[in-house]
Amino acid sequence: MNKITIMMNCSFCNKDHSVTVFVKDYTAWIKGTRAQDAFPYLSATKREQMISGICPKCQNDIFGEEEDADEYTGEADYDEAIAESLASTGQWW
Ligand SMILES: [Zn+2]
Repeated sequence: MNKITIMMNCSFCNKDHSVTVFVKDYTAWIKGTRAQDAFPYLSATKREQMISGICPKCQNDIFGEEEDADEYTGEADYDEAIAESLASTGQWW
């Protein structure tokens, strides 16, 4: 079966990366088949590359940041500290 390498540019780090899939699967995906159905052999990371164009490294960074953000949810002191820092110094921290 013929394969195609899809080249893409990460919108976060601006680096080029690629995913190789079968041509018939790529065609099916373009026509509307969901990525997990069109590319069952790809890892979640590679499917995300296809869908969002975000490279594996940045996906890792983004998911890491989301986990960190969850820890701060509901901590009002955190926002107040930033506001105070901004008010007193005009700078972020
Ligand atoms: Zn990236």
